[in-house]
Amino acid sequence: MKVFTSKEKLNQCIDLFKADAKKIGFVPTMGALHEGHLSLVRRGFEDNSIMVVSIFVNPTQFNNKQDLIKYPRTLEADVALLQSISKKKIIVYAPSVDDVYGNDVTSRSFSFDGLEFEMEGKFRAGHFDGVGTIVKRLFEIIRPDVAYFGEKDFQQLQIVKKLTEKYNIPVKVVGCKIHRASNGLAMSSRNARLKSEYKDAAPFIYQTLKMARQMFKSKSVAKVSEWVKDQFENHELLDLEYFIIADIKTLKSFQRKSKHKKYRAFIAVFADDIRLIDNIALN
Ligand code: AMP
Repeated sequence: MKVFTSKEKLNQCIDLFKADAKKIGFVPTMGALHEGHLSLVRRGFEDNSIMVVSIFVNPTQFNNKQDLIKYPRTLEADVALLQSISKKKIIVYAPSVDDVYGNDVTSRSFSFDGLEFEMEGKFRAGHFDGVGTIVKRLFEIIRPDVAYFGEKDFQQLQIVKKLTEKYNIPVKVVGCKIHRASNGLAMSSRNARLKSEYKDAAPFIYQTLKMARQMFKSKSVAKVSEWVKDQFENHELLDLEYFIIADIKTLKSFQRKSKHKKYRAFIAVFADDIRLIDNIALN
């Protein structure tokens, strides 16, 4: 498997595939890969003959320094996992901060028509400018035909779609289903840092989302939200940061349901000092 740390070398390799008219798919990741990431790569192989996977812990999207420092970095194991899918058709780009940013490790500022001010945007200042900056950069370097993003980070997925529309970036963005452990917990690189009692408690998040989906059929947004808040107030280990039911297009919460709109419930929870997010389609 080819693992590049330099964008020049990566580019030479991509040029060869492009000259051969090969379709190139792309999965950007921050590494510490798990089955959730692999499901995106497998999905990519349905449409492309070559998949590029980037492994880069992007400093500009972290609003919390400790989270950045503690973020797991496991390149060797990541490469081994990817090899289990394909040795020849996956290209890994695992650059240094310098290769991506040079000496200007800052975000550009973007407008995503308000999507950036909801949910994660409220609790993680500057996060989506960081995401916009790195995704745009990686799209320019890799020049993929299609890029795959998980619905696990649904707001990010909508923002990346908006980025390509607004900035005329010729990359098709495809959303992929959330991959869960058998106990329902959404897979995340951060799960590896959970102490065992928190690991046991964390599936409660998805159980609550499933109950909320059930209640949403007959109850108001306010009633469902109140019920969810109560569940976490009574929970010994998990602290709710937010629970929001939102229109999937605007990501804004609302009062009255409309048959013509699609809704999702979004949640962020602290398990000890580890922040976990999840979401579920409601209709
Ligand atoms: P990350 O490495 O956490 O930045 O994630 C890289 C990509 O994998 C993002 O598009 C995520 O939404 C996606 N992803 C992470 N976890 C999951 C999961 N459990 N199911 C589906 N996609 C995921």
